[in-house]
Amino acid sequence: MAKVLILGAGYGGMAAAVKMQKARIPFTIINKHSYHYFTTLLHEPAGGRNDFDPYYVEISEVLNSPEATIVKDTIKSLNPSEKKVIGEGGEYSYDYLIFALGNAPEFFGIPGLAEHSLLLRSLETAKEVRSHIDEMFALYAADKDPARLRIVVGGAGLTGVELCGELSEYLPHLAHKYKIPEDKIELINLEAAPTILPMLDERLRETALDVLTRKGVQVRTNEKIVRVGENEVELATGEKIEANTIIWTGGVRANPLLAEAGFDCDPRGRAKVNEFLQSVNYEDIFVIGDSACFIGEDGRPLPPTAQLAGQMGEHVVENLKALMNGQPMKKFSFNYMGTLASIGSEVSVGNVKGFKTKGVTATVLKEASKAKWLMTLGGLSLVARKNKQFTRSH
Ligand code: FAD
Ligand code: NAD
Repeated sequence: MAKVLILGAGYGGMAAAVKMQKARIPFTIINKHSYHYFTTLLHEPAGGRNDFDPYYVEISEVLNSPEATIVKDTIKSLNPSEKKVIGEGGEYSYDYLIFALGNAPEFFGIPGLAEHSLLLRSLETAKEVRSHIDEMFALYAADKDPARLRIVVGGAGLTGVELCGELSEYLPHLAHKYKIPEDKIELINLEAAPTILPMLDERLRETALDVLTRKGVQVRTNEKIVRVGENEVELATGEKIEANTIIWTGGVRANPLLAEAGFDCDPRGRAKVNEFLQSVNYEDIFVIGDSACFIGEDGRPLPPTAQLAGQMGEHVVENLKALMNGQPMKKFSFNYMGTLASIGSEVSVGNVKGFKTKGVTATVLKEASKAKWLMTLGGLSLVARKNKQFTRSH
């Protein structure tokens, strides 16, 4: 039997693994943690909405059949010519590889940014954001330094906006906890472009901006971060903002292992794939999710999203089966379902299947997409178990 290796237990890797398990094809999945976290919801616990427990599931709870071998290891490099990957804990050989190791932050070479900013990209980084802000509020109660209560979020794409929406609800609670006047808190969202959320249409962007502003977020567009120091952000205008919390949500690039191994990549380090999702360099390697450069109908690479990663993960298993059986593979085509951005716990904005939606309706639709992913992973029992955890942790 051919050896199939899946790297990464995110949206792409888990979608592929669940489908492999259902098809009863043996495979090994390697991930740096024993759990799969729900990245699409991480702004919620990072921004104080709930505890962290509901936001991950042990991989072994989902992949629990004899066909699945789960290895906890961190991959360090790829050796495609010898059909091997090298991890901290050992070497792994394969006949077919599914690369789904997600993204890395894009720092655009901005001096000091990598060293001095927090990120929101994994369960661990979400915990760091939350605990850092809590600590700054506790310190303010002791030293009254105003920079402790100034939080700068760099980038007003979907990640930045969703995080600010959550923080705007949480910070007043923290202020209450530490007996700090709420008007001392400053939550600043800096965006280099003339508008926030460029992927949404103008009316929805305006709604999002209006909601954020009403929640007390200072949204500043046309403000490019050019340098970051310890507790200081410098803008292209020369203005310097002193802040003890700097969170970078300014964009992503591919996991660097692909470029390091010499794969043909786009400028964001994403490996170029053909219409079947195979690397253009190696037909035994499929690349999916945030690490793949798949050209869409408009001639541009599709933006990295969980819905894309999930669909690629499922498709790749069909093509793998075809390849193993000497059958023709099928071309991948992305079924775009829409985009929804939550701005706190009650309001969302976005479009679903071409229809604009906002307010509570949009929030309900966002909840539905959460349930859909849980269904894919573990069926109704996982949905029920997680729902209980979500309710308990409110
Ligand atoms: P990931 O899901 O990131 O999975 C990669 C996996 O590989 C992880 O488990 C990681 O731990 C593991 N890994 C990484 N490096 C190594 C290594 N060297 N060795 C071993 N394991 C490794 N998209 C949407 O479509 N809808 C949304 O609502 C949405 N909301 C989002 C909200 C936030 C706050 C953020 C940050 C992103 C959001 N996204 C959303 C984007 C979405 O999360 C990503 O596009 C998606 O996670 C990509 O899936 P992936 O499988 O490529 O990578
Ligand atoms: P992004 O690239 O979409 O947005 C980053 C923002 O930062 C941009 O608006 C950019 O102009 C700004 N920026 C870049 N450099 C800057 C600078 N020097 N100073 C100030 N602003 C700067 O990144 P993201 O929001 O992390 O999203 C990454 C991917 O994940 C996207 O494909 C997105 O669709 C997806 N995502 C989806 C959702 C959702 O569907 N709800 C949520 C989060 C992320």
